[in-house]
Amino acid sequence: MIPLTRPEFGDTEARAVAEVLKTGWVVQGPKVAEFESMVAARAGARHAVATTSCTTALHLALIALGIGPGDEVICPSYTFIATANAIRHAGATPVFADIDDATWNIDPADVATRVTRKTKAIVAVHQVGLAADLDGLKTAGPAGMPLLEDAACAIGATYKGRPVGAHGNVACFSFHPRKAITMGEGGMVTTDDTAIAAHVRLLRSHGATVSDLERHKAQGQIYEEYRELGYNYRLTDIQAAIGVEQIKRLDDLLARRRAVAVRYNAAFSGTEPIQIPAQPDYAQHSYQSYVIRLRPGRNGRPTRDDVIRQLVEDGISSRRGISPIHLEPLYSSRGVSLPVTEAVAAESLFLPLYASLAESDQSRIIDRVLRAVTS
Ligand SMILES: *Cc1c(COP(=O)(O)O)cnc(C)c1O
Repeated sequence: MIPLTRPEFGDTEARAVAEVLKTGWVVQGPKVAEFESMVAARAGARHAVATTSCTTALHLALIALGIGPGDEVICPSYTFIATANAIRHAGATPVFADIDDATWNIDPADVATRVTRKTKAIVAVHQVGLAADLDGLKTAGPAGMPLLEDAACAIGATYKGRPVGAHGNVACFSFHPRKAITMGEGGMVTTDDTAIAAHVRLLRSHGATVSDLERHKAQGQIYEEYRELGYNYRLTDIQAAIGVEQIKRLDDLLARRRAVAVRYNAAFSGTEPIQIPAQPDYAQHSYQSYVIRLRPGRNGRPTRDDVIRQLVEDGISSRRGISPIHLEPLYSSRGVSLPVTEAVAAESLFLPLYASLAESDQSRIIDRVLRAVTS
């Protein structure tokens, strides 16, 4: 069975973990600090603050933006449920906007129709590694409306020649195994805003005003205070050691992922009924995933679910496209209708994509997909 994805670990990651264990410093310490500066450099941001996941990164980023009960935050429904859940964790209400029919990213024109006096921020999701229309989103609300990038899928993706991660007020990344680089679990907040970075640093470790690393450097001569309700969202140095090795390989991993996507695009472009991922000229896609849409056509043409079933029989994993959040039982009482989101979600599927996908396996996938969609 060809899997949908797989993490890419080598001996260097294993050695890095062994080194950390020898030092005896296993939670948020020097390795986390090293990983943070590497991610800041990749994201083109002045600050990076590590957390346990992108979900917890989003939670803290929203609090640091001042979002709380009574506030509305506009986000896409065509995204992983964590985007909306984090807004609720912060006490606010997610308001779902539709996506653009070509890019499948949040549509600034639709966002503009949903802005109310309660709207306190807009969340841009760079879905599956394609940067959202950030300039459009910056002008979708009133001047100064905070913009948060959910860049969970998008480390290494660019928007207008610059990496994602510092285009809005704050951005959040994920290092879950479904993403291009991973340490099992892990997240990061990036920002150019010194106050936001400082606030997130405080909140991730119980609200303590002095970190363990700072106290260690001062040889126990400084004491922390607690002024605000914080959380334990600390990454471990064990994970950060893996992250440091993974990010050293990021360019290589991204180049290999893009090569896989380029081969898919060449094989599928112009093939009815497949719509390949958009490649707008303002963005370089990082291909966290490869998603195709099967346009509805003549009656009797195999449906998306027929294709997934056929691929399983052929030993190839695939998955239905992103499930819209507004259709989940947790959110469905809101009764919103998002026609583009619903159509794209019903007609799209994920195909296998990972850096070490063998060319022969990919040729088999392409062959079976073409057969399944035209049968
Ligand atoms: C994966 C993902 C998340 C959640 O990331 P975790 O690190 O698993 O918490 C959030 N938003 C989007 C768009 C994602 O794809």
